[in-house]
Amino acid sequence: MAITFTDVHDCAETTVYRIEGYNLRDGLAHGSLDVALYACDAHRGQLREHGALNGLTIHTARPVGAFTSSCGELVTYQ
Ligand SMILES: [Zn+2]
Repeated sequence: MAITFTDVHDCAETTVYRIEGYNLRDGLAHGSLDVALYACDAHRGQLREHGALNGLTIHTARPVGAFTSSCGELVTYQ
């Protein structure tokens, strides 16, 4: 599995959301985590509309601790 990191949005605010995009696998809507997109409070709605999440089942997670990724960081697992 290759993991790539891309900045899709330039923002210095603290990240408080991890928007996860899942693909179907074995009949499960949350079968495969394909992308994660980190967002601050202000950009959560905008980044949920990002094209990298098209066609995926979206789940927005809140951190238990602090996220180390910056707002707009897209992580792709392939
Ligand atoms: Zn932001």
